[in-house]
Amino acid sequence: MSRRDTILRAAKRTAKEARAAASSRRERSRGGIGVDPHRHCVVCWTPVHLEEDPAVCGREECLNIHKKRERSRKRLVILMYMIPAITVLFLIQGVMGASG
Ligand SMILES: [Zn+2]
Repeated sequence: MSRRDTILRAAKRTAKEARAAASSRRERSRGGIGVDPHRHCVVCWTPVHLEEDPAVCGREECLNIHKKRERSRKRLVILMYMIPAITVLFLIQGVMGASG
């Protein structure tokens, strides 16, 4: 019985804490703490200036990682265009071969 009471009490307490945390979060988003609009470094999430482009902090490590990611992203985009193009090319060749 006493064990059940403790569990019940603990549950009630955590609910109350959660509610308090939620309300304090709401206060903050309403403008309690003034935080200037900003971006985050895409690598280490350090806050950087809003107009920073690319959104990378000054660290060389982050710049290198960002460059590497950008390269692989570009390669992926090229592949995404190349694969359908090659497929269409082969399809056309197949149709031409069958008819001619
Ligand atoms: Zn960084």
